[in-house]
Amino acid sequence: MTPKDAAIGPPMSVMFELTHRCPLQCPYCSNPLELERASAELETHTLVRVLDECASFGVLQVHFSGGEPLSRSDLPEIVAHAHGRGLYTNIDTSGVMLDDTALAALQQAGIDHLQISFQDVDEAGCNRVANFPNAFQLKLAAARRVSAAGLPLTLNFVVYHDNIARVPQMIELGLELGAQRIEIANVQYYGWGLINRSRLLPTREELQHATATVEAARVRLKGRLRIDYVVPDYYAQRPKACMGGWAQRLINISPSGKALPCHAAETLPGFTFWNVRDHSLEDIWYHSEAFLRFRGTAWMPEPCRSCERREIDWGGCRCQAFALTGDAARTDPACVLAPDHAVMQAAVAEMDGTQPFVYRGFHNVEKVLKLKNLPTV
Ligand code: SF4
Ligand code: SF4
Repeated sequence: MTPKDAAIGPPMSVMFELTHRCPLQCPYCSNPLELERASAELETHTLVRVLDECASFGVLQVHFSGGEPLSRSDLPEIVAHAHGRGLYTNIDTSGVMLDDTALAALQQAGIDHLQISFQDVDEAGCNRVANFPNAFQLKLAAARRVSAAGLPLTLNFVVYHDNIARVPQMIELGLELGAQRIEIANVQYYGWGLINRSRLLPTREELQHATATVEAARVRLKGRLRIDYVVPDYYAQRPKACMGGWAQRLINISPSGKALPCHAAETLPGFTFWNVRDHSLEDIWYHSEAFLRFRGTAWMPEPCRSCERREIDWGGCRCQAFALTGDAARTDPACVLAPDHAVMQAAVAEMDGTQPFVYRGFHNVEKVLKLKNLPTV
């Protein structure tokens, strides 16, 4: 490690996208359009070795997501190894495969926390957006199972035009199912979400109403239920500190082992992402070009370079800047000070809640590429 490297410590978290396989087909899925096949996935022994590297490097938390992480039969073995190395373990799951046997195996492996996502609190809406017939009932059963087992539970409600009016019912369901925390997260417009953006984006009025509901519930339920809330950038004044800043806190590992500064980073052209098969986590964190490219503030153009918020939001999201301007080094258009802010307003003007969904799936990539007038992805 050089003196310059010492200025930044190890990542707090490593996100393992264990697989892109998933029984559901959400049209806002953050997975890339070019999904990785099962044959490319990391083997158990490689994952075990990378978990050892996490522990010795000083990582605190490991998250297992996908796709659906329960699609991998070795998930309990992977969790047990992480737990044995003293890492805090979390699983992000759709819940539809989390039956009694699966949960018992994960509990025995030492899982610390589970996060179950809901597409809607309306049963028909949930099943339609997941494109899976019985998804809602399976999710309810899974959440009840986790609560009954005494494991910490977060419910993740993804919010968009069709369901944003049901935020009050989402909060009630969180209470009913015994969650410690709920996350009400507006769709983030990358990958499949960007393809379906005009269909999914709520109106400003819908968003304001939801925000007021969340703020009131936070006061009312203080000490009983923690409510995290993520708004869409399209109505923001300033961008979010995406991932807590590029290469500041997290490494995302794709199913085949590519180490990414964020889950959407593969959309950026001209990058080579080092693979954990060939490089240690520490080597990737301190020396790979992809992690160094936008770390810190030296890369920033104006107005970020001289802005007092440059170490608060780190200039926003590089993937969003690329998706909306074609240049990953531009100021995130979510910022009202950005030269490209008008593209956000143009996107809002294109909203069309009647368009059919383009569902996420291996089979739909061709269809996506053939569609005309899509935003750059
Ligand atoms: S967002 Fe939907 S399709 Fe994507 S991994 Fe999660 S459950 Fe599966
Ligand atoms: S100008 Fe840059 S640093 Fe300042 S608020 Fe906007 S995005 Fe953030």
